Amino acid sequence: MAKYDYDLFVIGAGSGGVRAARLAAMSGARVAIAEEHRVGGTCVIRGCVPKKFMVYASEFAHNAGIAEGYGWSASGATFDWKKFLEAKDREIARLSGIYVTNLSNAGAEVVHAKARLKDAHTVELEGKGTYTAEKVLIATGGRPWKPTDFEGAEHIITSEEAFHLPELPKRVLIAGGGYIAVEFAGIFNGLGVDTTLVYRGANILRGFDDNIRAHVAEEMKKRGIKVVLGCQHERIEKTAAGYVSHMSSGSAIETDLVMFATGRRPYTDGLGLEKAGVKLNEAGAVAVDKFSKSSADNIWAVGDVTDRINLTPVAIREGAAFAQTEFYGNPTSFDHDMVASAVFSQPPVGSVGLSEADARHQHGKLDIYLSKFRTMKTTFYGGEERCMIKLVVDADSQKILGCHVVGPDAPEIIQMAAIALKMGVTKAQWDSTCAVHPTLAEELVTMREKYVPQELGAAA
Ligand code: NDP
Repeated sequence: MAKYDYDLFVIGAGSGGVRAARLAAMSGARVAIAEEHRVGGTCVIRGCVPKKFMVYASEFAHNAGIAEGYGWSASGATFDWKKFLEAKDREIARLSGIYVTNLSNAGAEVVHAKARLKDAHTVELEGKGTYTAEKVLIATGGRPWKPTDFEGAEHIITSEEAFHLPELPKRVLIAGGGYIAVEFAGIFNGLGVDTTLVYRGANILRGFDDNIRAHVAEEMKKRGIKVVLGCQHERIEKTAAGYVSHMSSGSAIETDLVMFATGRRPYTDGLGLEKAGVKLNEAGAVAVDKFSKSSADNIWAVGDVTDRINLTPVAIREGAAFAQTEFYGNPTSFDHDMVASAVFSQPPVGSVGLSEADARHQHGKLDIYLSKFRTMKTTFYGGEERCMIKLVVDADSQKILGCHVVGPDAPEIIQMAAIALKMGVTKAQWDSTCAVHPTLAEELVTMREKYVPQELGAAA
């Protein structure tokens, strides 16, 4: 008789947990996976997937304006928020169902309950008893974080609630300058909501290349989003008409909805990790080695709960690497270098590798190529939106260290660029690739003139 009830118990059925559970079960292991909410996790239920539907929904008004320039008459179009929500929720339910089916087909047992560790090998399922497992995988993801230490903080919503608003507000105030703030500012604005984004720093999207950050902010403003920088909420007052947010600058902004997108934190509450000998790092994330193993010998963790790179495809690859290592006898660690990412702002951003500032810090002398232009589609209808493409190249080795794109389809373009950068492409190899015409992306392989940042002048 087996020593444990299961070979693997996975806590959390999001992207990382589901991939690990499926692969482990397909190897013949006895696998259970517990989920306290809905199978699919942040990405499918309250993140990437519904967000992308909202981005699509919000782009139509802008596109209708463009359509007029192309001879269409698109006046009189209206948007029904409730109808959209119903369609979105149907699709999310369908996708969540597919996840459950795939897990079951692989032979994994799906348990709908909150799980907590009683010790390193014992998992207690709320209302459903206690089970033992030889190995445990923590894949509980993260949760939105918002400050609670100022007056009126109880009025704030996060992205979780934004997916289920009973009504679209007329005005929204978004705090934060990261992925979620910028993406939701575009969504609300596109849906006709009077949108203000308030960020405490000098420019949005900290961590991205500075030219890209400035360009995205500029383009967001062109679309009608008010971007308020260097400012914080100090007090939120409920009024008869909605809310008034009193800012650190002394100004007050009236709004109907205040949404904070001020980061996410690893979700470890009530998991009993201390009882199992699992240590957290300073950020409150499960500390793991390159094989995603925690401080407990039989416990691993993947995805946002480890706070490495908090992206769905990364969690999937970490989950797959764990399964390969532990259930297929093939020690595998995921390489976190050159992971591309996209911000589904409007216009969107695609980025892989180093920003100019980080590259300068790490590599010294660089060759920079930068192009800012209107696409054919935009010039035809007389639009003002501009794309930006930037390449950061190591001056000595000529390796491309970073590629950054702002413009339509930037997320699609960057996926391809990421392959070349991951392979260590040089600028000469990159340029030997023939352009595809007429496209936005052709500009990537036709930039010959080096860009000299103003602050470096002739010294660059
Ligand atoms: P981010 O970490 O990207 O951004 C958080 C923002 O909140 C920053 O601008 C930060 O400012 C600001 N902030 C933090 N604390 C405070 C505070 N106390 N007061 C005011 N502002 C504050 O988090 P998000 O919530 O946007 O997203 C979480 C993560 O989810 C992302 O980092 C990303 O990994 C992932 N994600 C990925 C997406 C994608 O791939 N397209 C989409 C959505 C999320 P500062 O910069 O000054 O620290």
